[in-house]
Amino acid sequence: GRVDNPYAGAKAYVNPEWSARAAAEPGGSRIADQPTGVWLDRTAAIQGVNGGMGLRAHLDKALEQGAGVVQLVVYNLPGRDCSALASNGELKADQIDDYKTRYIDPITAILKDARYARLRIVTVVEIDSLPNLVTNVKPRPTWTENCETMKANGNYQAGIAYALKQFGAIPNVYNYLDIGHHGWLGWDTNLGPSAELLAQVAKDSGSVKNVHGFITNTANYGATKEPYFGINDSVNGTSVRQSKWVDWNWYVDETGYAQGMRQRLVQAGFDPGVGVLIDTSRNGWGGADRPTGPGPKTSVDAYVDGSRIDRRIHLGNWCNQAGAGLGERPKAAPEPGIDAYVWMKPPGESDGASREIPNNEGKGFDRMCDPTYEGNPRNNHNMSGARPNMPLSGHWSSEQFQELLKNAYPAL
Ligand code: BGC
Repeated sequence: GRVDNPYAGAKAYVNPEWSARAAAEPGGSRIADQPTGVWLDRTAAIQGVNGGMGLRAHLDKALEQGAGVVQLVVYNLPGRDCSALASNGELKADQIDDYKTRYIDPITAILKDARYARLRIVTVVEIDSLPNLVTNVKPRPTWTENCETMKANGNYQAGIAYALKQFGAIPNVYNYLDIGHHGWLGWDTNLGPSAELLAQVAKDSGSVKNVHGFITNTANYGATKEPYFGINDSVNGTSVRQSKWVDWNWYVDETGYAQGMRQRLVQAGFDPGVGVLIDTSRNGWGGADRPTGPGPKTSVDAYVDGSRIDRRIHLGNWCNQAGAGLGERPKAAPEPGIDAYVWMKPPGESDGASREIPNNEGKGFDRMCDPTYEGNPRNNHNMSGARPNMPLSGHWSSEQFQELLKNAYPAL
């Protein structure tokens, strides 16, 4: 039977490939022993890309390490990442059959192997998907053509339903669904409908019991906690919710969001025992620019901008954010309702190329990764805040890695 929290009392698997890249960086040995997510970001990743480790190699290595828990990111839906371009994938919008038979089935066959029965296998099932069908479709000003297509064909739901069912039948696999992050779904117009959509997919496919939990902030930059201001604060009678930064959101950080969304998901029909993971790989916001106390109470904007540790230009910015630092180190059960802080996004791996780079991975060029870009409706037409000279998503950037070390919080 499954345990309540797969991270509790379990040593997490250290991906030797990421670890070697980290260790090869000046100062990197300080974090090279940390567990990070293994991304099955294309069909070839199951066997190993360009001679790299495949899924079996990782699981065998996990056994060798004496690890108790392994973290896999299942990320290959048809029409992947419909609201952005940087992580579009190999499967076209209608390739649901390929997704099932060439991707999910072979993964399932490996996970089922009795050799791996004593590992707890956490599967993060398809980030960047279902919430897009709520927030990035018509009639919203944020709609995109690709999300309209995926809403119309139902292949996100079909793919996720299939994955939950196959993995859910394996007793040592723990499915976690993606719940975006507070800067995406923290408004009530997004939160409730996203919770209901996730629940609907699980219910319609008989998979409510196949969902063990949720993950927030995957590869994003939202602070785990904003220490110097809270959602109930006000300045001269004006709520911080009216500040430009908060902009009527109900949450100011990932911990509040995770706990609030968790309750809403249970209300929508998920098991009351579900737990949430927070990706803290790049949300530390330490370094010289980090505030050391609350901002001035001269106006809500001055107060919030002076207080917030999240230094992004806008909450909707997501690509290679300049100034970011490593967040809390991975840790089991840090808070009520939170199964673990995890480093699902491997620090040092790009979110997307700063300019167009031809490739055979299906990756597009998203101008949110271009530091000169002035934005779109999804970041309310702000500058992108992205670092320059970055490689394709998933590729290594020494410069970004070094900045993450420098701005780590807690400091290394
Ligand atoms: C990329 C994947 C990569 C992952 C982890 C995503 O943005 O699209 O190819 O494996 O990040 O770095």
